[in-house]
Amino acid sequence: MDISDKAKKNIYILWILTVPFGIYLVYHFASSRQIEWDTFIFLIVLGLLTTIFPFFISGTTMFLVQWVTLAVYLNYGILAELLVMQLCLIPIAYHMKTNKENAYRIVYSSFMFFLISVACGSIAHFFGYNLGTLVVKEVLIFGSIYSIIYILLNHVLLFIRESVTGKNPRFFTKDFFWDLAGLIMTLPFGLSLYLLENYIGTSAFWLLGIPFIMITLLVRLYSDSEKVNADLNKASEFGHEMAERMTGKEIIDMFIGRIANMFPMDSAYIVDYFKGQFLILRAIEDGENKELHFSHEDIKDSLAGIGYEKGVPILYNKQSEWLHIKPPFLTSDMQSVMCVPIYRNQKIEGVLVLASRNKHAFEAYQLKIIHLLCSYFAVSVEKAKYVSNAVAKSERCELTKIYNYRYLDKQLRNDMDRLALGQYNSLSLIMMDIDKFKVVNDSYGHHSGNIILQDFAKIISEEIGLNGTVARYGGEEFVILLPNYSKIEAKNLAEQLRRKIENTPFIVQLDLDEVASEEIIFITTSIGVSTSPDDSDEGMSLLRNADRALYIGAKQAGRNKVAEYVK
Ligand code: GH3
Ligand code: MG
Ligand code: MG
Repeated sequence: MDISDKAKKNIYILWILTVPFGIYLVYHFASSRQIEWDTFIFLIVLGLLTTIFPFFISGTTMFLVQWVTLAVYLNYGILAELLVMQLCLIPIAYHMKTNKENAYRIVYSSFMFFLISVACGSIAHFFGYNLGTLVVKEVLIFGSIYSIIYILLNHVLLFIRESVTGKNPRFFTKDFFWDLAGLIMTLPFGLSLYLLENYIGTSAFWLLGIPFIMITLLVRLYSDSEKVNADLNKASEFGHEMAERMTGKEIIDMFIGRIANMFPMDSAYIVDYFKGQFLILRAIEDGENKELHFSHEDIKDSLAGIGYEKGVPILYNKQSEWLHIKPPFLTSDMQSVMCVPIYRNQKIEGVLVLASRNKHAFEAYQLKIIHLLCSYFAVSVEKAKYVSNAVAKSERCELTKIYNYRYLDKQLRNDMDRLALGQYNSLSLIMMDIDKFKVVNDSYGHHSGNIILQDFAKIISEEIGLNGTVARYGGEEFVILLPNYSKIEAKNLAEQLRRKIENTPFIVQLDLDEVASEEIIFITTSIGVSTSPDDSDEGMSLLRNADRALYIGAKQAGRNKVAEYVK
């Protein structure tokens, strides 16, 4: 539950106004029984031990402290139970990694458990429960009622909290059923603890307490391995998804976003090592992307640089362990830090730095999983580079290095789509065909023809720059796509190109002669222009129209001319 600072303040105020005064009222008005201190302390120790060893099942952390608090209530009443429960919130707060930011949660829990303790105790009293009774039937009935109401009330309050914070609340959640399962375990233990401790005193600690703690420890061992398993499954799923991404940017976004979700961290940095320099490739702080620039030296002398040097993942649990080698980008409120080298082909390409404001936020097994994910990451980026190089190559003409027909076709459709969406006002297309090129080939050889094609492509690419897309359409035919060019603007540009070609001296090698020599020749080009939406609103017909203008308006009219399409 992420809530505003104002709501957090309200929770603190609510606690101050209700809990201390409520405890005072309970002390004065609720029925209680003389406390036997050795038994009471033994119950407190058991309660604390139970909360110190919680376990994690299917994403739910379970604290089975109710088996002790039930015995405390049955023995000494509301006040004693309430105090033991509040005390047990301290180890719970530790497990929930409570810090200044989220302390309101534990304060809210304190308030909630206070209400639950008072309500359950009052209901049991109301129905006639006598504290300390040893009538087994009564103990069983009231103990069961007490525990069931305890869980129901807990979930009613959680439901109310979710409704108030604007979430879509559900009553029968996974947690609810886990709590019910917990009840089935804690209720018989709690009742037995109460009865046994009344009959044999603190020896019940050995007979029941130790076995209970041992069982929870065993379940915890099992649930820890389940947690590792769950994280490993997530990691492998994530690895596969990452491998499917095609661009480096997509992979980096996905990698850092998922890592931030999977692990309890506040900031993440990908430090890249490129051409002998460290630089921050990507940074996320409190879920937001940050643009960070720091000098190579500063990063090199920090734990990011040391992580790079050492080449093994490093885990720091608190600030005092790394403060002397703090990288410049880490904020001073961070505590736990993980530094994981990113390997590719046995070479370190960079370092991933994760940080949390909590001490001991990361576990050793998480370091291993992140190390594994870093390898997936490096391989995926490499693959994406390879794929994008291959794609780029497949879209270029081998001879002139400008775009080929495959790319032109794609770009024409893209540009037409953008025109249809209103992102462009118009789209003009220029088609150029070198005049009498066959003669050039016949006179100076195919190789000279090739050089002319290369120079021609270079000249028009330089003339167009970023204003449009230049592609080789076929043999000695070239096409230029010009978004936001009106027909008249495109015609003017075509005229400029025609003149440029007409006036450019091309050097050809006379390799047909016995002795190789060079000669300067001049060529001309005929050009057709068409524009969308004026002439057509479909890509292929825009191309056909320019072709028609080129052959009818320019070639047939004597060549070295610019012609526009006329309907
Ligand atoms: P026009 O003015 O009517 O366009 O005459 P043209 O000779 O340019 O036209 P035509 O279509 O008859 O001939 C095109 C020539 O372009 C034929 C072909 O040898 C040449 N050509 C096409 N591709 C290449 C190439 O990659 N390299 C070389 N050197 N020549 C090429
Ligand atoms: Mg030609
Ligand atoms: Mg031609």
